[in-house]
Amino acid sequence: MNYRENPANGNKVSILGFGCMRLPQKGMRIDYEETRKQILYAIEQGVNYFDTAWPYHNGESEVVLGRIIKDAGIRDKVFIADKLPPWVVQKAEDIERIFQKQLERLQTDYIDYYLIHALDGKSWDRIRTFGVEEFLKKVKAAGKIKNMGFSFHGSREDFKRIVDEYDWDFCQIQYNILDEQNQAGKEGLEYASSKGLAVVVMEPLRGGNLAREMPSQAAKIYDSAPRKRSNVEWALRWVWNHPQVMCILSGMNNMEHIKENIRIAEDALPDSLTTEELDIIKRVADSYRSAMKVPCTGCQYCMPCPAGVNIPSCFEHYNNYHMFGKKIMSKAMYHAQLGGLMSVKKQLASQCISCGKCVQHCPQSIDIPGEMKKVSKELEGFFINNLMKIVGVFFKRMGRGELKS
Ligand code: SF4
Ligand code: SF4
Repeated sequence: MNYRENPANGNKVSILGFGCMRLPQKGMRIDYEETRKQILYAIEQGVNYFDTAWPYHNGESEVVLGRIIKDAGIRDKVFIADKLPPWVVQKAEDIERIFQKQLERLQTDYIDYYLIHALDGKSWDRIRTFGVEEFLKKVKAAGKIKNMGFSFHGSREDFKRIVDEYDWDFCQIQYNILDEQNQAGKEGLEYASSKGLAVVVMEPLRGGNLAREMPSQAAKIYDSAPRKRSNVEWALRWVWNHPQVMCILSGMNNMEHIKENIRIAEDALPDSLTTEELDIIKRVADSYRSAMKVPCTGCQYCMPCPAGVNIPSCFEHYNNYHMFGKKIMSKAMYHAQLGGLMSVKKQLASQCISCGKCVQHCPQSIDIPGEMKKVSKELEGFFINNLMKIVGVFFKRMGRGELKS
């Protein structure tokens, strides 16, 4: 296993992190024995970073991860990452309540890497009003949090602002061959690194989409490379090629995939891809982009929308829906991220009132209100909107601890 150093404290972190978002399941519950087997195998092979969160498997992910680590007696050999869900916080006391519950679920006295989950500019401004900075300083001083960070899905400007507005140790960004200019992007990665933050990368395969069957044009480009690699290997190596990246998270639940990821991580060194290889990857990314429905670059110049629509995110989900198949999963992710489950307010395409204010700001000359009608028609609808309302009520009650968790 390769390790990279956390510039904040010298921690040697495995470049492959185990994401505990989609653990093996038996029915509706986590398959404990299979998960244990996979996690202990990964640890034997040198993986030492495990990432969980409050909502993963409705809290069961934290419980299972904590139990496996405690029973194996290896708490001091691994780094646990966990996250504060800002959308669950309704009053200042909720922050402490959630944190204490997480320590209890994980059966530990401290969390190595603690993040505020899925921030954007608005959710950061909101969670600050509950005194989150003072709370985090207090628990860090008490040794209950070793490294403080945030995960991010928003504009580059907001990303830089958040980096500058607190004394973070690390951050977690979405970064992959299709998102070099999207969200925090390459500029954000370099910015955070220049400020001394360790950077953890999530979604290296864009929610698994880059691991699926590729558009034929993209497959031909990889086939023409002198060195044969799978699409997963190309995509992971591209992220690890960036020296600013400390660790990549992979949501693993299959032993073959775990072995394959560990094999790739053995020799994925920074700046190890050749100019020719980087050009091949760029052509593949361009080929994916040509299959996009809307040529949105995620620049955010159209934001904010007075009706609350998250314009670039709507287009990102719409493009994923058309580029990668997996239509049900794409719809679920659209509603989860923009329908109020993992955000304080809804930010859906159907909220567009066609005011036209955004259009003049779009450098790509996209007919935004016209496209919003299409996004709404294809990704929303009576059935799924109501289904997500029910899921939302369940999810919020779970967040408040009213249901068993
Ligand atoms: S046209 Fe629609 S998306 Fe654009 S600013 Fe107006 S309400 Fe928002
Ligand atoms: S301004 Fe245009 S390209 Fe930029 S995020 Fe908005 S819709 Fe996308």
